Amino acid sequence: MVRNRILYKTKERHKRTIRDVIKGLSRRVKVYLQPLKSECPNCFYDKFTNRSTGKCKWTAVEALQKQTEWETSTCYASTIRYRYFLKGRCPVCKGQGYIETQRTTWINCLVTWNPREPFGNEMTYTPAGSEGSNIVRLKTDPKNYDTFKNADRVIVDGVECRVSRPPVTRGLGTQAVLVITVFKTKKPKNDSNEIIKDYN
Ligand SMILES: [Zn+2]
Repeated sequence: MVRNRILYKTKERHKRTIRDVIKGLSRRVKVYLQPLKSECPNCFYDKFTNRSTGKCKWTAVEALQKQTEWETSTCYASTIRYRYFLKGRCPVCKGQGYIETQRTTWINCLVTWNPREPFGNEMTYTPAGSEGSNIVRLKTDPKNYDTFKNADRVIVDGVECRVSRPPVTRGLGTQAVLVITVFKTKKPKNDSNEIIKDYN
């Protein structure tokens, strides 16, 4: 009984500790999820060929009206969703029959640029995007597994990175941490305003 209670208390303390570490030292990482595919709003979809039928759903007047409605109702004003065409390639989906919508989310992660060991327990706090850094180790709550498993690319400290391998869970129970390895794909942006904007 007593022993169980002590174990429970120890576990609770560990749980707090790991959460505090992630909460206290983590930075917000922007994660690009796999884009959502949806049928093109502008043309009829051909289920047999899995492509656009090349036939517009709307008349010229309807298309203009729907595009105007869309532009006034959303912040994606520059996106064209409705545009009349007589026949041939749909200008909205380029004949694919579907459009892709980019989805992003923010995840708090411990960020380590150029970790010394592939799977070490180091928590080095290196400067953001420091010279010569190409590999970034991210550590986060295991609940984010699905998010990173389906992630296409991430923005760490304003730097675009590709997720290199499936995320791995290290440790057991409440001490478990999700470890993700990503690679830098571009040089850090010089536009510091944009980086600040990203973190708001
Ligand atoms: Zn289309």
